[in-house]
Amino acid sequence: MFSPFITIKKLREKISKKEVNTSEVIRFYLDRIKNHNPKLNSVLEAFEDIADQNIGTDALLGGIPYLVKDVILQKGRLATGGSKILSNYKAPYDSTVNERLKKAGAISIGRANCDEFAMGASGEASGYGPTNNPWDESRVSGGSSSGPAAAVAAGLTSFALGTETGGSVRQPASFCNLVGMYPTYGLHSRYGVMAFGSSLDQVGTLTRTVYDNALVLTALSGQDAKDSTTIQIQPKDYTKNLDGKLPENFTVGVIKDALESDGINGEVSQAFNQAIETLKKLGAKVKVVDLPHLKYGNAVYFIISRAEGASNLSRYDGSLYGKRAEGADNLFDMYLKTREQGFGREVKLRIMTGNYVLSAGHKDAYYNKAQAVRAIIRKEFDQAFQDVNILISPTYSMLPFKIGELASDPIAMYMGDLFSVPNCVIGTPGISIPCGFSKTNLPIGFQLLGPRLSEELLLKVAYAFEQSTDYHLKHPGNYE
Ligand code: GLN
Repeated sequence: MFSPFITIKKLREKISKKEVNTSEVIRFYLDRIKNHNPKLNSVLEAFEDIADQNIGTDALLGGIPYLVKDVILQKGRLATGGSKILSNYKAPYDSTVNERLKKAGAISIGRANCDEFAMGASGEASGYGPTNNPWDESRVSGGSSSGPAAAVAAGLTSFALGTETGGSVRQPASFCNLVGMYPTYGLHSRYGVMAFGSSLDQVGTLTRTVYDNALVLTALSGQDAKDSTTIQIQPKDYTKNLDGKLPENFTVGVIKDALESDGINGEVSQAFNQAIETLKKLGAKVKVVDLPHLKYGNAVYFIISRAEGASNLSRYDGSLYGKRAEGADNLFDMYLKTREQGFGREVKLRIMTGNYVLSAGHKDAYYNKAQAVRAIIRKEFDQAFQDVNILISPTYSMLPFKIGELASDPIAMYMGDLFSVPNCVIGTPGISIPCGFSKTNLPIGFQLLGPRLSEELLLKVAYAFEQSTDYHLKHPGNYE
């Protein structure tokens, strides 16, 4: 009928020409989930009850199936946040992003696995088990949007919604040969999205191509009266500038640490250098840009995300949402037992660190200091964008690692986020796109960072790069 890896663009054409109908498309992907998900654990629940729909074929995303990371509410469905503490929680309302996709005619076919409350970089911190990478099932698919990435890469859906606080869309995109974007903070509504770090969180989309990413962005972005942090901006068509060319007089800034840091895997560096050459061939001028405070991005992110995370997670105590522990002696005991039983190790670790950095006597040394350094990083990026149009670096410093490989070394995993957290800390956009493979056929991605609201520019450049390379045309062999 069609390849499971068909792009949204091509699938839309087929549906419009009535070569396939929506019911057939949905059935096709639900069957793919049934057959392939047991190898991956990327989908927590497939919505078998929607199989007979045949609607909305003219809208922007009419008839296109998608999966939703399980921290995003879908009315009437379970929403676990990847946590045992919410294993029985049903969403009483729709998130704005889900509502917008429905309005655009897209059809949610299920809930995707993720690190518990989006806290992680590998998917291993999910209360429902790790997600395997379709390129090598013994390896992680990245995180925290582990399930969305693995499912899109394996052709179990057309696209998937993830969320990102500090790399959680871009890093799994790079681990799975996909395109993933962190949009400008405030471009997407967070209404109905479980909060991790409220000043950092954004929804982001995982797709197989740049064009598809632009298409979903078109459906999702725009102000939302239910989220006062959304930006007042007219809806626009993000696909319209994708012409395969770079803008005139275009300068790319290569982040200096991306060339010099010895913490970067050799094959990742090699693929990144190749990407620089490709951009040069496309006509870009290339400069090396020093961002002296970039290296503090991780520390700033660590403190702010833990502080906000600990505060946000205080709402899960058995009284309002989800599970309540049995056999407690009194109210306080009920809180303790519920949280002890319901949260996993990584989440507990972060709650403790978050409460520590916020506690009396430590707040100035940690939280307030982090906010001050955050302002310096913002200034440094602002200055850099006076001189270059975009900045580039590898998305992640490592190749997809083995499941369990970093279990005893969480710091190594945190440090891997070196390039993906700084722009989240200042709320500016970034997109990860494929740029190569290791000798062992593991995907590698690099990222393009731009100033606030530069999504159109980032997509234009990413598209030009993609069209002059063929990485995006490769798919994991076991899932053809
Ligand atoms: N890997 C980062 C972390 O562990 C990012 C998570 C995210 O973006 N949600 O916190």
